[in-house]
Amino acid sequence: MAFTETCTKCDGTGLLRWGVIDRPDHKKSCWDCEGVGHKTFKTSPEDRALARARAQKKRDEALLARQEKRLAKQREITGGLTFAEKQVEREAQWAEEKAKAEDVPTGKITVSGTILKVDLKDTPFGSVWKMTVKDNNGFVVWGSIPSIDGRVANCAKGDTITFSATVTPSDKDPKFGFFKRPTKAVLTESTRENRIGILDPDPEPEEFIAPHKEWNLMEDRR
Ligand SMILES: [Zn+2]
Repeated sequence: MAFTETCTKCDGTGLLRWGVIDRPDHKKSCWDCEGVGHKTFKTSPEDRALARARAQKKRDEALLARQEKRLAKQREITGGLTFAEKQVEREAQWAEEKAKAEDVPTGKITVSGTILKVDLKDTPFGSVWKMTVKDNNGFVVWGSIPSIDGRVANCAKGDTITFSATVTPSDKDPKFGFFKRPTKAVLTESTRENRIGILDPDPEPEEFIAPHKEWNLMEDRR
């Protein structure tokens, strides 16, 4: 038994404005019913609707299973929470820490805290190493990495640092500020493995130390 249905794309006219040019009268044929205005099926419309619903249900279930698998993997990685849940927890922690933080003072102060980040910033005067420091009083300041013994301090995320500088709070956030002219810096390096430093990000392998001795010898011969 065959079921004939009017084509829904062309409303049974067999013609479509954006159809296929294949007719002697140059009108455009419906691409869905190939210009005849109806379609013939082996199964009833009800059966086909059911089959479509079943296929959709299967796709939905597969999608859900994939999502669940992804979330299970995330829980495995974080030890119980999905990435989204972990993010919410982290943000709540940050908000709580920030609420407890003191406001950035104004003027010449001693900053003492932990380096959160070091990065190279391009300025009109060339590239300058900057650091973000979380002071022990909770506020966060950003500015140039101070010099120690005449060269930019080899600091890294996780190091603790104490220095004097002139500090200005940000207009937008009283717990964030900028510092200028840092002096009297004292750096305590965190464990080597944790350091993402600037001047020697990785401990130098032995074989790269050897050539320096030869260069020194060449210097001596001159
Ligand atoms: Zn049609």
